[in-house]
Amino acid sequence: MIVETDSGSGFCFGVENAVKITEKALLTGEKVYSLGPIVHNDMEVRRLMSLGLININREKFSNLHDCKLLIRAHGEPPDTYLTAEKNNITIIDATCPIVKKLQARIKENWLRSKEMNGQIVIYGKSGHDEVIGLLGQTKNEGILISSPEDLSKLDFTRPVILFSQTTMSISSYRNIGGLIRERMINAGVTDPDSILKVNNTICAQVSNREPHLRAFAKKHDIIIFVSGKESSNGKLLYNACREVNPETRFVSSPEEIERKWFEGKHSAGICGATSTPKWLIEVIRELIITF
Ligand code: SF4
Repeated sequence: MIVETDSGSGFCFGVENAVKITEKALLTGEKVYSLGPIVHNDMEVRRLMSLGLININREKFSNLHDCKLLIRAHGEPPDTYLTAEKNNITIIDATCPIVKKLQARIKENWLRSKEMNGQIVIYGKSGHDEVIGLLGQTKNEGILISSPEDLSKLDFTRPVILFSQTTMSISSYRNIGGLIRERMINAGVTDPDSILKVNNTICAQVSNREPHLRAFAKKHDIIIFVSGKESSNGKLLYNACREVNPETRFVSSPEEIERKWFEGKHSAGICGATSTPKWLIEVIRELIITF
């Protein structure tokens, strides 16, 4: 059986950067806390914890003092920085530069939207850490839209400035923008483009990977998609592979792989999300070539 690993899979630039910052911080031997898992991949989290990283939740964070705290690629709301300052916590900021820029754009537009009675709308997953950070830029006045059903939260006669979480699907974001425009027209707005601004904020590291993975998935009899179960872009990219190749299996660790999946197959492709480490893809490849 031919086994091919996708050369484009592995950490995106933002996650790679965050992992490098973490490894460097751990070299000092001091305690480093991470507010939530550094990456949506349990195997990589376990590896970094074995080097000394301590994972904490928001409740524990509020009681921390005099230590070092790592901020993940997803970023954090301004409140986290304020609490850190108050509690003498040194921040090691590994926020992805793309997310940082998006946070700044949202804040700037939120301040400007007040002058025109506008609404800042964020298309993203409820409770997702990046979304918490984005909404925080608006003092949580931004409106979160996770599906077309949530559009009822908007006033279609008032200006809308739309942003997306970086890892959403381009097609569903376009659909949301189109629905808002349509509802503005239904609400009597004659020129919706004068009050609707759709910002293209889906990360190219995710959007470029989608068509690439579709082409990769078509080439093989079976696809092993490797990702943490919590990863948003993992779900999105897995679904993209499955749409073109129903023989796509989602796995988070080598133990989940079953030999029988490969019976009668002549080629297998291995790929993953932007939070899947390359070393894990390699471990899985080494297992599959023994079948
Ligand atoms: S997917 Fe894009 S925005 Fe998100 S961490 Fe990776 S590079 Fe940054």
